[in-house]
Parts: sequence; C-alpha cells; structure tokens
Amino acid sequence: MLKLLIATNNPNKVKEFAEILADLPLAVTYLADESITLDPEETGATFRENAILKAQAFAQASGLLTLADDSGLEVDALGGEPGVYSARYGNTAKDDHVGRCHLVLDKLAAQNVPWPERTARFRCVIALATPERLIETVEGTVEGLIDYKLKGSNGFGYDPIFFVPELNQTLGEAPGAVKHQISHRGRAARAAAKVIERLMKDQT
Ligand code: IMP
Repeated sequence: MLKLLIATNNPNKVKEFAEILADLPLAVTYLADESITLDPEETGATFRENAILKAQAFAQASGLLTLADDSGLEVDALGGEPGVYSARYGNTAKDDHVGRCHLVLDKLAAQNVPWPERTARFRCVIALATPERLIETVEGTVEGLIDYKLKGSNGFGYDPIFFVPELNQTLGEAPGAVKHQISHRGRAARAAAKVIERLMKDQT
C-alpha cells in the first residue's frame, strides 16, 4: 500500500487531514510517527511557494510521498492580509488564535467596514512531492465574511470570526464534518486525493 506522509506540525491540521483522507486506500503517516522534527522556514511570498518548499523538504527528509499545505485567511478590506502571515499576524504568540481574531476585528472596526464589504476567504494550497520531484499543487478556497465577534469554539485559528453565508454560521460554530465539506482544506484535500489516485493507477 502506498505510504503518504502528511507533513504538518499543526495538530489541528493533522486531525482535519486524517478525517478528510480516511477513505483512501493509503497508509497515512505523520511527522511524529516518522520522528521527523524538521521545521522548515516558510520564506515563500505565496501559499503555493510555501507549500512546495515544505513538501520538498519533508519528502527529502523522509524518502516518502509527501503532502504539505500552506493556508491562511485573506481579508479584502485589509488588502488581502493576513495572507501568508496568518499564523503569526501582528507578531502574536504562536498559540494566540484569539488574539489574532481580535486583531482582524479591531482593524475592520477602526476602518468602519460595513457588512457587505467584510468579504474574506480561506485559501489552502497543497503540494505533493516525492524525494525526486514535485508532483503537483492543488488549491481550495472558501468564501465568507468577517463577523463582528468571535462565535463558537470548534475548529481553530480564525474559524470563530469566519461567517459562511451558505451555513448561516461561523466555522467556529460548524461541526467538523460540516466544515470539511466546504472548507478550503477539505476542497484542496479532495483534489489532492484525486492526484494521488491517478498516481496509484500509473504505478500499477
Ligand atoms: P500555515 O500553518 O502556515 O498554513 O498557517 C495557517 C494559519 O492560517 C493558521 O495558523 C491559522 O491562523 C490560519 N488558518 C489556516 N486554515 C485555517 C482554518 O481552517 N481555520 C482557521 N484558521 C486557519
């Protein structure tokens, strides 16, 4: 069975990928299982560059087919911020998700941004690589609006302020399975699963 390394140190993403890829005929393994402690610096200017950088570094370190993602929130009224800086926006502490949510809310409040202009999206780019080559990148997005306060305690990161009109709730309020159906990561992971299936066919 093909072995796939999910290359992320983020326990929230580990959980989400495990749930999304559960049905594939793959032996899925994680950085902790492979005792890989590498933490490559995300120096790319785009989600795609960072995803490629991580997939290649971890594929070479592990010798395995590797999936890595880079993702974040783009808020239109903030010129696309926090973007690639989503995980460390405003120099917030690594685990200070609530602080980062408040930073976004405060910036929008300072500009008096009205509801229809509070548009935003989560974007996720997944790169698949072997130690020898980059195989492909795929992308997923979910469109929404930045709410006026934090709502719900599901998910992670900016989920409590990300209101999804089609769900009529924030991703912080949506159950995990509902989030995966429509999320940027869910969409990108399902596109990646198709690439992996094609790869498995080519190998037989
Ligand atoms: P990455 O680990 O470099 O991809 O950074 C991702 C950052 O973007 C996370 O730390 C979160 O702040 C934010 N982010 C990415 N995906 C999500 C999500 O599904 N919900 C909420 N925040 C997210």
